[in-house]
Amino acid sequence: MTGRPAAEATTGEPAATASGQAATDATSIRAELRRWIDAHWDPELSLAQWRALLADSGWACPAWPLGWCGRSLPPALAEVVTGELAQAGVPGPAEGVGRTLAAPVLLSHGSEDLKRRFILPAVTGEITWCQLFSEPGAGSDLAGLATRAVSDGEGWLVTGQKVWSTGAATADFGLLLARTDAGVPKHRQAGVEVRPLRQMNGHASFNEVFLDRAQVPAGHVIGEPGDGWTVALSVLAHERRLAPSRPGPAPAGAAGRAWREAIAERTAAAEPHKWYPQRAGRPDLVIARAVAEGKARDPLVRQEIARLIELTWTARWTAARAAAARAQGRPPGPEGSLGKLASSAIARQAARVHSLIAGASGMLTGAGSPLDGTIAEIFLSVPAISIAGGTDEIQRTIIGERILGLPKEPDAGRDLPFRDVPRSG
Ligand SMILES: Cc1cc2nc3c(=O)[nH]c(=O)nc-3n(C[C@H](O)[C@H](O)[C@H](O)COP(=O)(O)OP(=O)(O)OC[C@H]3O[C@@H](n4cnc5c(N)ncnc54)[C@H](O)[C@@H]3O)c2cc1C
Repeated sequence: MTGRPAAEATTGEPAATASGQAATDATSIRAELRRWIDAHWDPELSLAQWRALLADSGWACPAWPLGWCGRSLPPALAEVVTGELAQAGVPGPAEGVGRTLAAPVLLSHGSEDLKRRFILPAVTGEITWCQLFSEPGAGSDLAGLATRAVSDGEGWLVTGQKVWSTGAATADFGLLLARTDAGVPKHRQAGVEVRPLRQMNGHASFNEVFLDRAQVPAGHVIGEPGDGWTVALSVLAHERRLAPSRPGPAPAGAAGRAWREAIAERTAAAEPHKWYPQRAGRPDLVIARAVAEGKARDPLVRQEIARLIELTWTARWTAARAAAARAQGRPPGPEGSLGKLASSAIARQAARVHSLIAGASGMLTGAGSPLDGTIAEIFLSVPAISIAGGTDEIQRTIIGERILGLPKEPDAGRDLPFRDVPRSG
């Protein structure tokens, strides 16, 4: 492995309040955090140094365990900390697959050695990750994956192909799912070839990753060999719970080394996702577009805009219900799949309204096209929202089986040896 050296994880305990007790309510958490920021924030620290301080104090990922960048706070109080860091105008922990998927899964299933080596650098952003799950013949049916990991006595030799791997061209490590075992290979190592894919909207966010006897050290297996499916389900559960959040803009007056590095990091991290607003259909543009194009009094356009607003508001209320349930410490309910389906419905309806307003000119790109090609990009990007992170059909199956209690979908291959299971691709 040739990855940059991982910083050692710290074992810092959260600071206590003046009375010697760890704060346990929102008001005292805010006050304690503000005192800590006043004492530690120095804009001339490097971003990694600042995040290491955040991690050491447990403010970086407050819901994580003590000693692992967290304070074991309940989710509602952890959200208070996130909000307060933003309010204070200081950079938070790194975004991305490393902090949001790899580190939580390592916390639940990783060896002490893996946790010590990889959790802190995922939080500081010194090591970046991608997700190497999907294959040409295994997306919705992830269990049908064909990439093989074979033990060579010292580690694992991985052979197969991954696809749709967002950010794989630049990530340091990948969360890899392979038949019989899972591991975390370094990109550009011997036996790993990453080829960017160009999408129909012109962007190139995804990659094909070809693995030909790529070596993965024995110690890089997450969980026990043969138990990778449990770990994969844990990754997918974290992924479904993730809000599609982007870090907000840097606060006005953000200056100093830490912010310069944070802004550069955000710009680089945003590159594969810069079409994501269009993927969501841009409902925010609809009314201004109808007015500008003289369609605001068209009864058909008005009716479709009303339908879009109706979908948007019901989704917002469902999300608020989910947030309230989380704040009360209740386990995730049906809102994850419902929210995901709702975002597909909103995006499609917004694209429909944009097409009613723009007519055929909506297909144009370049100078003089509607919103400089943004409308065309909406049409070409919206289909992705019904696929990424589990397709609409799969969400409906989850709702049908796990929430409505309908009979399970038949699975002819369930009890067959893998070589005999019918597969796509
Ligand atoms: C924007 C975006 C980002 C992504 N990022 C990543 C990434 O970083 N890493 C990664 O590993 N993957 C990533 N993916 C891949 C994504 O997880 C898969 O595309 C998705 O799971 C669907 O798999 P598939 O493309 O193989 O389609 P298939 O599973 O082949 O599905 C094809 C069609 O058949 C339907 N279908 C399949 N099975 C059933 C069923 N049982 N019942 C009813 N209908 C069914 C599907 O709904 C779909 O309409 C990304 C995808 C997108 C669009």
